Amino acid sequence: MIGGELAIRWPGGQESYLSLEMVRRHCPCAACCGEPGLTRPIPGVEMKLSQESFRLKGLQRVGGYAIQPTWEDGHGTGIYSWDYLRKIAKEL
Ligand SMILES: [Zn+2]
Repeated sequence: MIGGELAIRWPGGQESYLSLEMVRRHCPCAACCGEPGLTRPIPGVEMKLSQESFRLKGLQRVGGYAIQPTWEDGHGTGIYSWDYLRKIAKEL
């Protein structure tokens, strides 16, 4: 694993630890995943990921429902709702 984990505490006290690589690979923004709901990236727009892609530069809260990480490769348009993070956590 590269670059650590993101720890999330859910209402109710349960905690999830998501690897940053996992989180980045599930980036929900249009550049990484295309339109919401599509499971396959659109050919040609798949992001090139490097070591820096899995390192967190910053993390911002978006309202009360989501977080928006900025990655060291400069990418930062993915907004992860808590629901979405919970879904990723369950896939682990
Ligand atoms: Zn993205």
